[in-house]
Amino acid sequence: MNNIIAYPIGDSLYLNLTNRCTNACAFCVRTTTDSGMGYDLWIDKEPAVEEMVADIKAKGIENYKELVLCGYGEPTERYSDMLEVVRQIKAYCPVKVRLNTNGHANLIAGRDVTDEMEGLIDIVSISLNAPDARKYQEICRCQYGEEGFYGMLDFAKRAKEYVPEVVFSVVDVMDKEDIDSCRQIAEEIGVRFRVRELIK
Ligand code: SF4
Repeated sequence: MNNIIAYPIGDSLYLNLTNRCTNACAFCVRTTTDSGMGYDLWIDKEPAVEEMVADIKAKGIENYKELVLCGYGEPTERYSDMLEVVRQIKAYCPVKVRLNTNGHANLIAGRDVTDEMEGLIDIVSISLNAPDARKYQEICRCQYGEEGFYGMLDFAKRAKEYVPEVVFSVVDVMDKEDIDSCRQIAEEIGVRFRVRELIK
């Protein structure tokens, strides 16, 4: 294992916080490949806040257009550590920060933590993945069962209050009908909608 912490993709710098996740999606790159975007992102020990901050600075974060909180897993499994890293990086340079998430932060914390993102997270991109709870559970095999779907929708609604841009994303391999239903959910909640390419 290389224990990669921060790694570049295009003009973004990605942060690999954890391999843990509340879902076990059928299409997840963790289960379908040995690497993500050409990197071996399996880690045998989660990096400490200081290690993440040091690596992000060492990789020259000031030269990137954004910092992406990602992981080979769900970054909000380490919500307070994640926000502490962002706090220190934003004090260092004014980089835009995007959180790529499954939207389970509140379920993980057992309370509403969306307000803690205010002033730290600029974009939240949430994987919607399915138009209803049953299909979501079939695809995402969430540890919270169908509650994972409702918790994710609620997270998006609340996040809108504290984050300038909230986006629901789906992968392009879904049925057109399901994509249309997902688009409608995004419209109802009042967040942006994006169809993205499946990472293979
Ligand atoms: S939510 Fe993301 S990291 Fe978690 S299993 Fe699904 S695709 Fe993988």
